Amino acid sequence: MEITDMHVHIYPDHLAQRVITNRSVLCYEFASDATLTGTLSKMKEWGIAHAIAASVATRPQTQDAVNAFALRAQCKRIRFMGSVHPYADRIRETLLQIKDSPLAGVKFHAHEQQYLLDEPLAMKAYEECARLELPILLHAGPDSSYPGADNASYERVAHVAGRFAGSKIIFAHFGINGHYDLLDERLLGKDVYLDTSMCHRLADDQVTDIIHAHGAHRVLFGSDCPFANAQAAAQRIQALPLDQEQKEDILHKNAHRLFGVGG
Ligand SMILES: [Zn+2]
Repeated sequence: MEITDMHVHIYPDHLAQRVITNRSVLCYEFASDATLTGTLSKMKEWGIAHAIAASVATRPQTQDAVNAFALRAQCKRIRFMGSVHPYADRIRETLLQIKDSPLAGVKFHAHEQQYLLDEPLAMKAYEECARLELPILLHAGPDSSYPGADNASYERVAHVAGRFAGSKIIFAHFGINGHYDLLDERLLGKDVYLDTSMCHRLADDQVTDIIHAHGAHRVLFGSDCPFANAQAAAQRIQALPLDQEQKEDILHKNAHRLFGVGG
């Protein structure tokens, strides 16, 4: 089965080691070295045909550098998303450049970019993306690097989902990052995408329930590599009590329809 991992992180070689060292404090087990070469070789080993990589501009001033790296690093098997910072001046202009480039969409991370997921400037940036029909990937839920921060809380996720249903919007980590009890109809079954990354924090029956309630045609396989092992994550989806068509949708076909990757 063709597999596309639509949530991986790749950094320029000189930064990759630093990212890993910084996050090591949190006891992460790293599945790759987070470089382009290292990720490509892991993908080959794991049988992952395609990936979508995403990094964010943590400050408005770094937007152009992040997008320049994404464009440079883009290759046949890995497409990159671009980034805008909700507080930057040239959002529309940058989004138009992303739209005209081979970049796969726009990633936002409310914790790393230090904004609130549903604050007016952020909503305005998503609005511009939606108007250009650019896929939007949002980190959703708590982040262990930012203990206690509610920048991407479920309330905010539900607010954004209500406003942008029908757009190409993807909530990472099933929209909850491990907090199964929070999920309700404000997200489940809405016309938005959920990615499976970090779902090792949920039990198998919880993952299956979410997929049934939301619809496999709106769930995308993502691992969050290097913060998780993509091979183990894909094997877990393959072992769930879902039919073959649902597994194919999640593991590749939805990503193919959304991003045009693979056959
Ligand atoms: Zn991630």
